[in-house]
Amino acid sequence: MPAYFDHNATTPLHPAAREAWLRASEKHWHNPSSLYREAGFTSQAMESARERLGDLLGVEPERIVFTSGATESNNTLFAGLAKCLPPDACVAISAIEHPSVREAARAWLGRARVIEIPVDAEGVVQPEVLKRVLVEQQPALVSLMAANNESGVLQPWPELLKLCREHGTRFHSDVAQWVGKLDAMALGTCDYLTGSGHKFGGPKGIGFLVLADEAEAFPLLHGGPQENSRRAGTENYPAIEAMVTALEAITPRLGEVERVQTTLRDAFAEQMKRDFPGLRVISEGAPRLWNTVLLVMPQHSNLKWLTRLSRVGFAISTGSACSSGKEGSSVVVQALGADWEELRRVVRVSGGWDTTEADWAALAEAFAEVSRGLDAPQE
Ligand code: PMP
Repeated sequence: MPAYFDHNATTPLHPAAREAWLRASEKHWHNPSSLYREAGFTSQAMESARERLGDLLGVEPERIVFTSGATESNNTLFAGLAKCLPPDACVAISAIEHPSVREAARAWLGRARVIEIPVDAEGVVQPEVLKRVLVEQQPALVSLMAANNESGVLQPWPELLKLCREHGTRFHSDVAQWVGKLDAMALGTCDYLTGSGHKFGGPKGIGFLVLADEAEAFPLLHGGPQENSRRAGTENYPAIEAMVTALEAITPRLGEVERVQTTLRDAFAEQMKRDFPGLRVISEGAPRLWNTVLLVMPQHSNLKWLTRLSRVGFAISTGSACSSGKEGSSVVVQALGADWEELRRVVRVSGGWDTTEADWAALAEAFAEVSRGLDAPQE
């Protein structure tokens, strides 16, 4: 799919995941909670998938709860915290969290109990800023996404996690954009993780929540003993199998993919800067995901760019899919202090594992072609 540059919104199903889904659906379609032999085989296969995911994330399989995706996982976490924490306890989240963290935290805990940790001019949470929050506000939990969905900016989460540990504060990371793009093995050191299978070649409607320990029960959905009474509802084993298979398929390639794709993405950004004087790349000076570039175009609204590019066969985005359709919706660019006029010109381009040099060149050419059309005198 050469013209697809919206991998941060979702990814096409990985061929290995498709095969795994079909195989699991044919062979292990029984309800894993039922008591006959075939159901037992499904349950065993599902537990084996949990172990394999645990190996990839560096966590004990017992800590993993399968959910419908990162949105449900984030809501489960904050709904659970709302029940467990003392009524005056607060949580701290970064200013650039995905809405499924920010809005879930506010909805479940109440706005007054959610502190925002500001980011620097590149969109990064600085350790001294977090330290001040930890000392002055003493949050019960800090939630910082490992990789941002809009700019691709990476947080120095191991250092920030260490600081939280020193202050006895629990640490959650929304890793929906990290997993499948960068090695995930070290993530298991975080207390809580949330992610979605469809961001790395798995099917939609499947994800995970990693809890701090196996005994923790954070049910959002009630009505059944599945997932150790931590998430009611029949488990979707074929989707679980497909999600884990997708991650197993891409993980060994990640080092090479990062090396190749970073070069291609940067060459695209340089070409765009040459073609569009005044164009800005958000968080250009910070470590970023290898596939993402968030651009402030020098002119024309992002919806104009998006629709015209779509007409010539290229899929890009105006920011996160959850807020797309609204011009000027970039949470990240807003947090960096941009004005509304600038926000209307933000476009996000996110390539994939197999995007080629020719694909990137074609996209740059398509921007140039669309620009000529937009600049032409209108009749
Ligand atoms: N967190 C981040 C960082 C995301 O990018 C997304 C998807 N846009 C989500 C959470 C929500 O994932 P899902 O829509 O699969 O529940």
